[in-house]
Amino acid sequence: MFLCGEFGPHCGACASVGDFLCDFPVGDGKTCDMPLCESHATEVAPNVHYCPGHQVLWEQFRDVGGVQRELENVVPFARPKEDR
Ligand SMILES: [Zn+2]
Ligand SMILES: [Zn+2]
Repeated sequence: MFLCGEFGPHCGACASVGDFLCDFPVGDGKTCDMPLCESHATEVAPNVHYCPGHQVLWEQFRDVGGVQRELENVVPFARPKEDR
């Protein structure tokens, strides 16, 4: 064996294998793409995961009402249905 251990992307916050990618939009149609393990990927919407740092940003962003505006350009945000 030349290399032992796990291959593939590793979590940006710890040494585990990163099965998830941060979907936080960083502009230019790109996303953060930081590899994240199960425990560091925060699911903010179905199939949308954010890294710890971006999850904080996302919460601040959401709190100031920026979501609506970004939704026009960015797909990943899924708003919960409002029954009204
Ligand atoms: Zn991790
Ligand atoms: Zn991120």
